[in-house]
Amino acid sequence: MNAFRPASLPPRLVLATGNPGKLREMRAILAPWAVDVRAQSEFTAGVAEETGASFVENAILKARYAAAASGLPAIADDSGLEVDALHGAPGIYSARYAGVGTGDAANNERLLRELASVPDDRRTARYRCALVYLRWPTDPAPIVAQASWEGRIGRFPRGTGGFGYDPLFLVGDGSLAAAEFDADRKNEVSHRGQALKALVAALAGAPAAAIAP
Ligand code: IMP
Repeated sequence: MNAFRPASLPPRLVLATGNPGKLREMRAILAPWAVDVRAQSEFTAGVAEETGASFVENAILKARYAAAASGLPAIADDSGLEVDALHGAPGIYSARYAGVGTGDAANNERLLRELASVPDDRRTARYRCALVYLRWPTDPAPIVAQASWEGRIGRFPRGTGGFGYDPLFLVGDGSLAAAEFDADRKNEVSHRGQALKALVAALAGAPAAAIAP
């Protein structure tokens, strides 16, 4: 590991998530710069209220909450599935599409129901991810990175990997669902992996004064 860290990156930051997979991914991407990535759960058991109307707004709310709870610069993400035939639904409501507390299987069932009469060529969709970096809870200049992963919604679940809508999300020529990707390969191409790389590039390239806590 190369322990050189540009002055533009903070030595330590908090990731606004309780998801161990996201934490692992962020630590791996930041490993070359020796940035100490802490989990929000080390500072608080609470979670931010996601009251925004967009992925970016919700990511800002989450980052603000994590920065306030930890006293550290914070990175937060918000993501979801956007289906064209449903005018962008489930969008920011992806985690609770079938109702609060129902879970992935119910969300996928609802998605299949809503699209039952939609032909294959109109089942286009994409995952979106917004990532936000804040130096302090009151930071007036968030650094934002966004990325998407294009696909199409299948007619039955496939594969056992991933989470959420991955068993229904067909990519490329449609022969593979996201749930059939291994984790490393998904991280390479996914909305979250791409947004993470873009954010880290923006952080590493930003002037030191824009980054340092
Ligand atoms: P959050 O960004 O962790 O709040 O995720 C929002 C929701 O979007 C998740 O609960 C999933 O339903 C969906 N989602 C986001 N990213 C993915 C993904 O990579 N695969 C499958 N579902 C995803």
